[in-house]
Amino acid sequence: MTDTPPICSYEGSDYPTSFWEQGGRAYEDECESNALLKLLPKGGSRMLELGAGGGRNTLKYSDFDQIVLLDYSVSQLEHAQKRLGKKTCYRFIAADIYRLPFMPGAFDCATMIRTLHHMANPRQALEQVHGTLQKDAHFILEYANKRNLKAILRYWLRRQDWNPFSPEPVEFAELNYDFHPRSIRRWLAETSFRLERTLTVSHFRVSALKARIPLKILVWMDSVLQPTGALFQYSPSVFTRSKAVTTVKPIQDGSIFKCPNCDFGPLEDTSPQLNCPRCHKSYPVRGGIYDFRLK
Ligand SMILES: [Zn+2]
Repeated sequence: MTDTPPICSYEGSDYPTSFWEQGGRAYEDECESNALLKLLPKGGSRMLELGAGGGRNTLKYSDFDQIVLLDYSVSQLEHAQKRLGKKTCYRFIAADIYRLPFMPGAFDCATMIRTLHHMANPRQALEQVHGTLQKDAHFILEYANKRNLKAILRYWLRRQDWNPFSPEPVEFAELNYDFHPRSIRRWLAETSFRLERTLTVSHFRVSALKARIPLKILVWMDSVLQPTGALFQYSPSVFTRSKAVTTVKPIQDGSIFKCPNCDFGPLEDTSPQLNCPRCHKSYPVRGGIYDFRLK
Protein backbone atom coordinates (compact mmCIF):
# COMPACT_ATOMS: atom_id res chain seq x y z
CA MET A 1 0.00 0.00 0.00
CA THR A 2 1.04 3.60 -0.48
CA ASP A 3 1.64 5.96 2.44
CA THR A 4 -1.28 8.01 3.60
CA PRO A 5 -1.17 11.47 5.21
CA PRO A 6 -1.39 11.80 9.03
CA ILE A 7 -4.81 11.40 10.64
CA CYS A 8 -6.49 13.62 13.17
CA SER A 9 -8.33 11.26 15.50
CA TYR A 10 -10.94 12.17 18.10
CA GLU A 11 -10.42 8.82 19.86
CA GLY A 12 -11.47 9.11 23.52
CA SER A 13 -12.35 12.80 23.10
CA ASP A 14 -15.38 14.34 24.79
CA TYR A 15 -15.86 16.53 21.68
CA PRO A 16 -19.62 15.87 21.22
CA THR A 17 -20.36 17.17 24.71
CA SER A 18 -17.65 19.76 25.28
CA PHE A 19 -17.77 21.42 21.84
CA TRP A 20 -21.40 21.18 20.79
CA GLU A 21 -23.43 20.87 23.96
CA GLN A 22 -21.48 23.01 26.44
CA GLY A 23 -19.32 25.09 24.13
CA GLY A 24 -21.75 27.90 23.23
CA ARG A 25 -21.99 26.63 19.64
CA ALA A 26 -25.80 26.72 19.31
CA TYR A 27 -25.51 29.48 16.70
CA GLU A 28 -23.08 27.49 14.48
CA ASP A 29 -25.11 24.31 14.94
CA GLU A 30 -28.36 25.94 13.79
CA CYS A 31 -26.75 27.80 10.87
CA GLU A 32 -25.13 24.57 9.65
CA SER A 33 -28.37 22.71 10.07
CA ASN A 34 -30.16 25.29 7.87
CA ALA A 35 -27.53 24.99 5.16
CA LEU A 36 -27.57 21.21 5.21
CA LEU A 37 -31.35 21.04 4.90
CA LYS A 38 -31.22 23.40 1.89
CA LEU A 39 -28.72 21.15 0.12
CA LEU A 40 -29.88 17.63 0.98
CA PRO A 41 -31.64 15.65 -1.75
CA LYS A 42 -35.14 14.40 -0.94
CA GLY A 43 -33.91 10.94 -0.03
CA GLY A 44 -32.18 7.97 -1.55
CA SER A 45 -30.94 4.47 -0.97
CA ARG A 46 -27.52 4.74 0.69
CA MET A 47 -25.86 7.73 2.35
CA LEU A 48 -22.21 7.91 3.41
CA GLU A 49 -21.60 10.27 6.31
CA LEU A 50 -17.85 10.96 6.38
CA GLY A 51 -16.46 12.14 9.72
CA ALA A 52 -19.79 11.32 11.34
CA GLY A 53 -18.35 11.72 14.86
CA GLY A 54 -21.02 11.29 17.50
CA GLY A 55 -23.84 11.42 14.93
CA ARG A 56 -24.75 15.10 15.38
CA ASN A 57 -26.25 15.32 11.86
CA THR A 58 -27.31 11.73 11.23
CA LEU A 59 -31.02 12.13 12.03
CA LYS A 60 -31.30 14.66 9.18
CA TYR A 61 -30.62 11.80 6.75
CA SER A 62 -33.61 9.71 7.80
CA ASP A 63 -35.08 9.78 4.27
CA PHE A 64 -32.30 7.44 3.15
CA ASP A 65 -32.86 3.67 3.38
CA GLN A 66 -29.41 3.11 4.81
CA ILE A 67 -26.92 5.47 6.46
CA VAL A 68 -23.27 4.52 6.79
CA LEU A 69 -21.52 6.46 9.55
CA LEU A 70 -17.77 6.62 9.08
CA ASP A 71 -15.23 7.96 11.52
CA TYR A 72 -11.64 7.11 12.41
CA SER A 73 -12.52 7.04 16.10
CA VAL A 74 -14.31 4.00 17.55
CA SER A 75 -15.24 5.94 20.69
CA GLN A 76 -17.03 8.61 18.59
CA LEU A 77 -18.96 5.87 16.79
CA GLU A 78 -19.93 4.43 20.18
CA HIS A 79 -21.32 7.87 21.09
CA ALA A 80 -23.31 7.78 17.85
CA GLN A 81 -24.63 4.29 18.62
CA LYS A 82 -25.87 5.51 22.00
CA ARG A 83 -27.54 8.51 20.41
CA LEU A 84 -29.13 6.67 17.47
CA GLY A 85 -29.64 3.12 18.72
CA LYS A 86 -28.50 0.06 16.79
CA LYS A 87 -31.23 0.13 14.12
CA THR A 88 -30.62 -1.88 10.97
CA CYS A 89 -30.63 1.25 8.79
CA TYR A 90 -27.32 2.33 10.37
CA ARG A 91 -23.87 0.91 9.69
CA PHE A 92 -20.94 2.05 11.81
CA ILE A 93 -17.52 2.00 10.16
CA ALA A 94 -14.14 2.90 11.64
CA ALA A 95 -11.86 3.73 8.72
CA ASP A 96 -9.35 6.17 7.31
CA ILE A 97 -10.81 8.55 4.68
CA TYR A 98 -7.61 8.13 2.63
CA ARG A 99 -8.27 4.34 2.45
CA LEU A 100 -12.03 3.97 2.16
CA PRO A 101 -13.30 0.36 2.32
CA PHE A 102 -16.16 0.74 -0.19
CA MET A 103 -16.83 -0.53 -3.70
CA PRO A 104 -17.35 1.98 -6.53
CA GLY A 105 -21.04 2.88 -6.82
CA ALA A 106 -21.86 2.01 -3.20
CA PHE A 107 -23.49 5.39 -2.43
CA ASP A 108 -25.95 7.79 -4.00
CA CYS A 109 -25.09 10.55 -1.55
CA ALA A 110 -22.22 11.53 0.73
CA THR A 111 -21.68 14.31 3.25
CA MET A 112 -18.47 15.58 4.78
CA ILE A 113 -19.00 18.30 7.38
CA ARG A 114 -16.32 19.78 9.65
CA THR A 115 -14.00 17.01 8.50
CA LEU A 116 -12.00 18.26 5.51
CA HIS A 117 -10.38 20.82 7.81
CA HIS A 118 -8.41 17.93 9.38
CA MET A 119 -7.09 16.74 6.02
CA ALA A 120 -3.45 17.37 5.19
CA ASN A 121 -4.16 16.18 1.64
CA PRO A 122 -7.72 17.30 0.83
CA ARG A 123 -7.48 16.45 -2.87
CA GLN A 124 -6.59 12.84 -2.07
CA ALA A 125 -9.55 12.64 0.34
CA LEU A 126 -11.95 13.96 -2.31
CA GLU A 127 -10.60 11.45 -4.82
CA GLN A 128 -11.37 8.63 -2.36
CA VAL A 129 -14.92 9.91 -1.80
CA HIS A 130 -15.54 10.11 -5.53
CA GLY A 131 -14.42 6.49 -5.85
CA THR A 132 -17.34 5.30 -3.71
CA LEU A 133 -20.09 7.18 -5.56
CA GLN A 134 -22.42 6.25 -8.39
CA LYS A 135 -23.51 8.27 -11.40
CA ASP A 136 -25.18 11.58 -10.40
CA ALA A 137 -24.63 11.00 -6.68
CA HIS A 138 -24.68 14.16 -4.59
CA PHE A 139 -21.76 15.17 -2.42
CA ILE A 140 -22.25 17.81 0.28
CA LEU A 141 -18.96 19.23 1.49
CA GLU A 142 -18.37 21.77 4.24
CA TYR A 143 -15.00 23.45 4.60
CA ALA A 144 -13.40 26.14 6.75
CA ASN A 145 -12.73 29.25 4.67
CA LYS A 146 -9.38 31.00 5.15
CA ARG A 147 -10.61 34.05 3.20
CA ASN A 148 -13.13 35.09 5.86
CA LEU A 149 -13.79 38.69 6.94
CA LYS A 150 -12.20 38.27 10.37
CA ALA A 151 -8.98 36.84 8.87
CA ILE A 152 -8.89 39.63 6.26
CA LEU A 153 -9.27 42.34 8.92
CA ARG A 154 -6.62 40.77 11.13
CA TYR A 155 -4.26 40.55 8.12
CA TRP A 156 -4.81 44.20 7.19
CA LEU A 157 -4.28 45.26 10.82
CA ARG A 158 -1.04 43.20 10.85
CA ARG A 159 -2.27 40.97 13.64
CA GLN A 160 -1.94 37.85 11.50
CA ASP A 161 1.05 36.86 9.42
CA TRP A 162 -0.60 34.55 6.88
CA ASN A 163 -2.27 35.90 3.77
CA PRO A 164 -6.01 35.01 3.54
CA PHE A 165 -6.02 35.67 -0.22
CA SER A 166 -3.35 33.14 -1.20
CA PRO A 167 -4.52 29.73 -2.43
CA GLU A 168 -2.53 27.38 -0.15
CA PRO A 169 -4.16 25.94 3.01
CA VAL A 170 -3.27 27.46 6.38
CA GLU A 171 -2.61 25.08 9.27
CA PHE A 172 -3.68 27.22 12.24
CA ALA A 173 -3.27 24.35 14.74
CA GLU A 174 -1.83 20.87 14.28
CA LEU A 175 -3.93 19.05 11.65
CA ASN A 176 -6.47 21.91 11.49
CA TYR A 177 -6.61 23.62 8.11
CA ASP A 178 -8.52 26.49 6.56
CA PHE A 179 -8.84 26.50 2.77
CA HIS A 180 -9.25 29.08 0.02
CA PRO A 181 -12.58 28.69 -1.85
CA ARG A 182 -10.79 28.79 -5.20
CA SER A 183 -8.57 25.85 -4.18
CA ILE A 184 -11.59 23.81 -3.09
CA ARG A 185 -13.29 24.49 -6.44
CA ARG A 186 -10.15 23.39 -8.26
CA TRP A 187 -9.82 20.15 -6.24
CA LEU A 188 -13.51 19.33 -6.75
CA ALA A 189 -13.12 19.80 -10.51
CA GLU A 190 -9.88 17.77 -10.61
CA THR A 191 -11.55 14.87 -8.78
CA SER A 192 -14.56 14.81 -11.17
CA PHE A 193 -17.15 16.64 -9.11
CA ARG A 194 -19.43 19.19 -10.77
CA LEU A 195 -20.16 22.01 -8.31
CA GLU A 196 -23.85 22.91 -8.25
CA ARG A 197 -24.46 25.11 -5.23
CA THR A 198 -22.46 27.09 -2.69
CA LEU A 199 -23.83 28.50 0.59
CA THR A 200 -21.88 30.71 2.97
CA VAL A 201 -22.54 29.87 6.61
CA SER A 202 -22.00 31.32 10.12
CA HIS A 203 -21.57 34.91 8.87
CA PHE A 204 -21.94 36.29 12.41
CA ARG A 205 -19.49 34.04 14.25
CA VAL A 206 -18.36 36.91 16.48
CA SER A 207 -18.64 36.57 20.27
CA ALA A 208 -19.82 40.20 20.76
CA LEU A 209 -22.73 39.67 18.33
CA LYS A 210 -23.61 36.23 19.71
CA ALA A 211 -23.75 37.74 23.20
CA ARG A 212 -25.96 40.72 22.27
CA ILE A 213 -28.32 39.60 19.49
CA PRO A 214 -30.97 36.92 20.20
CA LEU A 215 -30.00 33.54 18.73
CA LYS A 216 -33.11 33.24 16.56
CA ILE A 217 -32.53 36.59 14.85
CA LEU A 218 -28.84 35.89 14.23
CA VAL A 219 -29.65 32.47 12.75
CA TRP A 220 -32.40 33.99 10.56
CA MET A 221 -30.04 36.69 9.24
CA ASP A 222 -27.46 34.02 8.46
CA SER A 223 -30.03 31.94 6.61
CA VAL A 224 -31.01 34.93 4.44
CA LEU A 225 -27.36 35.55 3.55
CA GLN A 226 -26.45 31.90 2.81
CA PRO A 227 -27.42 31.98 -0.91
CA THR A 228 -25.00 34.90 -1.52
CA GLY A 229 -22.35 32.17 -1.40
CA ALA A 230 -23.12 31.63 -5.09
CA LEU A 231 -21.49 35.03 -5.75
CA PHE A 232 -18.80 35.49 -3.09
CA GLN A 233 -17.50 33.66 -0.01
CA TYR A 234 -16.24 35.62 3.02
CA SER A 235 -17.85 33.60 5.85
CA PRO A 236 -15.82 31.26 8.09
CA SER A 237 -17.71 28.18 6.90
CA VAL A 238 -18.83 27.23 3.38
CA PHE A 239 -21.19 24.45 2.28
CA THR A 240 -21.10 23.10 -1.26
CA ARG A 241 -23.15 20.56 -3.14
CA SER A 242 -21.62 18.79 -6.11
CA LYS A 243 -22.57 15.95 -8.39
CA ALA A 244 -20.25 13.03 -9.08
CA VAL A 245 -19.30 12.86 -12.75
CA THR A 246 -18.94 9.13 -13.40
CA THR A 247 -20.59 6.31 -15.30
CA VAL A 248 -20.46 3.89 -12.33
CA LYS A 249 -23.81 2.18 -11.75
CA PRO A 250 -25.32 1.56 -8.31
CA ILE A 251 -24.51 -1.73 -6.58
CA GLN A 252 -27.72 -3.74 -6.81
CA ASP A 253 -27.06 -6.51 -4.34
CA GLY A 254 -23.96 -7.92 -2.77
CA SER A 255 -21.45 -6.42 -0.40
CA ILE A 256 -20.47 -2.74 -0.53
CA PHE A 257 -17.10 -3.46 1.09
CA LYS A 258 -13.64 -3.73 -0.43
CA CYS A 259 -10.29 -4.31 1.17
CA PRO A 260 -8.75 -0.92 2.08
CA ASN A 261 -5.28 -2.46 1.95
CA CYS A 262 -5.23 -4.01 -1.54
CA ASP A 263 -8.57 -2.81 -3.04
CA PHE A 264 -9.87 -6.36 -3.57
CA GLY A 265 -13.65 -6.45 -3.67
CA PRO A 266 -16.41 -7.07 -3.09
CA LEU A 267 -15.39 -8.34 0.33
CA GLU A 268 -17.92 -10.78 1.70
CA ASP A 269 -19.56 -9.62 4.92
CA THR A 270 -18.63 -12.52 7.20
CA SER A 271 -19.16 -10.75 10.56
CA PRO A 272 -17.68 -10.90 13.17
CA GLN A 273 -14.63 -10.78 10.93
CA LEU A 274 -14.11 -9.89 7.28
CA ASN A 275 -11.16 -11.51 5.51
CA CYS A 276 -9.44 -10.44 2.35
CA PRO A 277 -8.67 -13.49 0.17
CA ARG A 278 -6.01 -11.56 -1.77
CA CYS A 279 -3.79 -9.91 0.87
CA HIS A 280 -5.07 -11.99 3.84
CA LYS A 281 -5.75 -8.97 6.04
CA SER A 282 -8.70 -9.36 8.39
CA TYR A 283 -11.07 -6.73 9.72
CA PRO A 284 -12.96 -7.29 12.99
CA VAL A 285 -16.55 -6.26 13.73
CA ARG A 286 -16.98 -5.45 17.45
CA GLY A 287 -20.16 -4.21 19.06
CA GLY A 288 -21.63 -3.45 15.64
CA ILE A 289 -18.61 -1.39 14.53
CA TYR A 290 -16.65 -2.55 11.46
CA ASP A 291 -12.98 -1.76 11.97
CA PHE A 292 -11.23 -1.19 8.64
CA ARG A 293 -8.35 0.86 10.05
CA LEU A 294 -4.93 -0.28 8.87
CA LYS A 295 -2.49 -0.35 11.73
ZN1 LIG B 1 -6.70 -7.13 0.67
